Amino acid sequence: GYEPRTQAIYQVTHRDPVPVKPPESLQDLWATDVFSLSKMQACLPKSVFKSLKETILSDAKLDPAAADVVASAMKDWALSKGALYYAHVFYPMTNGTAEKHDGFISVQSDGTVISEFSGKTLIKGEPDGSSFPNGGIRSTFEARGYTAWDVTSPAYVMETDNGVTLCIPTVFVSWTGEALDKKIPLLRSISAMNKSATKVLKLLGCNEVSRVNSSCGAEQEYFLVDTAFANTRSDLLLAGRTLFGKPPAKGQQFDDHYFGAIPERVQVFMQEVERSMYRLGIPAKTRHNEVAPGQFEIAPIFEAADAAADHQQLIMTILRNTAKRHGFVCLLHEKPFAGINGSGKHVNWSVSNATQGNLLDPGDQPHENLQFLTFCGAIIRGVHKYGPLMRAVIATASNDHRLGANEAPPAIISVYLGSQLEDVYEQIQKCDVTGCKPGDLMDLGVESVPTFMKDSGDRNRTSPFAFTGNRFEFRAVGSSQSVSGPLIAMNTILADSLDWIANKLESQVSSGADLKASVYGILKEIMDEHGGVVFGGNGYSEEWHKMAVEERGLANLPTTADALPVLKEKYIEELFEKTGVLSPVELESRFEVYSEQYVLSVEVEANLVVDIAKTQIYPAAVKYISDLSATASSLKEMGIEFNYSIAKKVASLVNGLSESTQKLEDALDKEEFSSMEEHMQYFAQTIRSLMDEVRGYADSLEGEVADELWPLPKYQEMLFIK
Ligand code: ADP
Ligand code: MG
Repeated sequence: GYEPRTQAIYQVTHRDPVPVKPPESLQDLWATDVFSLSKMQACLPKSVFKSLKETILSDAKLDPAAADVVASAMKDWALSKGALYYAHVFYPMTNGTAEKHDGFISVQSDGTVISEFSGKTLIKGEPDGSSFPNGGIRSTFEARGYTAWDVTSPAYVMETDNGVTLCIPTVFVSWTGEALDKKIPLLRSISAMNKSATKVLKLLGCNEVSRVNSSCGAEQEYFLVDTAFANTRSDLLLAGRTLFGKPPAKGQQFDDHYFGAIPERVQVFMQEVERSMYRLGIPAKTRHNEVAPGQFEIAPIFEAADAAADHQQLIMTILRNTAKRHGFVCLLHEKPFAGINGSGKHVNWSVSNATQGNLLDPGDQPHENLQFLTFCGAIIRGVHKYGPLMRAVIATASNDHRLGANEAPPAIISVYLGSQLEDVYEQIQKCDVTGCKPGDLMDLGVESVPTFMKDSGDRNRTSPFAFTGNRFEFRAVGSSQSVSGPLIAMNTILADSLDWIANKLESQVSSGADLKASVYGILKEIMDEHGGVVFGGNGYSEEWHKMAVEERGLANLPTTADALPVLKEKYIEELFEKTGVLSPVELESRFEVYSEQYVLSVEVEANLVVDIAKTQIYPAAVKYISDLSATASSLKEMGIEFNYSIAKKVASLVNGLSESTQKLEDALDKEEFSSMEEHMQYFAQTIRSLMDEVRGYADSLEGEVADELWPLPKYQEMLFIK
């Protein structure tokens, strides 16, 4: 008979790895698919290239005459790469990547066709804006928007299902100028941070200060599951996670997967992923097995935040597309399997420029490194003051399964500094502001650790936001998220803090105060006010949850429903408005889009739970009861005694399953809500717990019903058969 689960297992166990491509040298691969600055320099007239470069450096608009020349060169390059289409690529508020494809083909009046691509079409495109969420902007303004080439990000070619496409990275704006994407606020946050950082560096005595940018290196965790399994599980296909499934007898308690041998099929897959990344100029570096079976990680070398954000989106696309070609589904969901380690995206972030270098590098003597202490202090202040915002930017329905659970960073945002740095700031805090000199710090005991030991930060994996030697690592970010939201938040709160510091420093120094004493005084003030956010202990512990909230006044926002309303708070609106990163209208639209997405994704899952429970699990369990009762009656006829306990247990679980499914179905009928907040809370509390209730019965049934009747591939099959 047709048994999808058995067939899937057969298919998976008989698969061969996709043949490996012959190795190519990195030089031959590197950035071959990117229309890079050097390629443009080689093919553009000098004057055009100069104008383009100036545009890139000054964030200005490209002059139309130059745009035509650039477009024509870009088209010729793309055609030589086999491209038939071009696409404006943009990053809507959904965390995804969107593309509007068009052909180069243009029909002439005489019926012949030519390939055409003008400066106008390069610079501006018109996607169907109404199909992307705009939040408040949709109702307030004209719904449609347009995409505009982000000249700071180079064009590239990508092989897609349509063939080869020239991809042009763009920003997505409404006709009235509102940002409809994640790229514009990211660029604005970098500008704001650059402005404030420059001010502070000048005040600290740096004569020459070049543009400060933030850098980002994101570690991406993901799961691979065979397509044959995924195809028989609508939850994996539609929600990206298993809504049912009993944890396997062998889970990750056997740590043999971590850094273990990578199965051959996966290795071939990874080689192809890296190859695609190199061709696109993305510096892939590490690969190893993660904690859970079937889980892996890829981390490119860090780059400037704007480039890194584009590349991160590309990495997710490449992972998904390559997986398909290798008979896998790549799951970027934060928690595809209950009871098994989830996936995060560690966003490593620092700020640097060409003249001063990495501003978060403490050097050997951090206590004397005013520049470092100031920037790090600014971050401590920012994370404390805007901790709830940091929580809000990582709030999604899927990430809720990690945060708040006891295996991922908690939903309480704190800062881990490492003991040595923590000590330095404590000394600063103890110092008497008026007489504080760097020498005093030495006297207070810091000299007992003469040189700074770089702390990998790995010693504390329980912190959501950890200093790791020369950067911060935002570990609470979800694996399926765009890195832009977190980067925007970090850049913006840093801009705000640096601005605050600059104002203080300026007035103190201009009234004759000593620079060092002023800096230490300001840092002491920061630590007095905001030091409570620094925490080096176990972030998973009950004591911390209690202490954080009751003694330190930190917010614990366990669900997205609790976290997103932060975006409506006045102080958050003011933060974004004064830094120029988001206008109040833009911010409000983000609340609306994100909360709508939350409700929608929980709703899709709840409907799937009902559907799978009713049409797959219930029938299998009932069939088993009927098998058992048939056996029982024939045994009875033969006068043989039969123990009914299993049949009774299964029958009672089946009743529980059908009752809880009915409750969930009824609960989903509710349509009237007084506010979005209430709507979200209803899904976070009522709907989610009913889903868990249904799952509880189903997973117990999985442990009772005959294996051959069970319709869904089981955890051990999906995780261990490759
Ligand atoms: P771990 O697994 O120990 O956290 P990895 O080496 O796997 O570390 O990943 C660290 C990531 O941090 C890499 O992407 C790396 O390029 C990035 N990184 C290193 N230095 C910086 C920096 N100054 N700013 C931003 N990211 C950085
Ligand atoms: Mg890490």
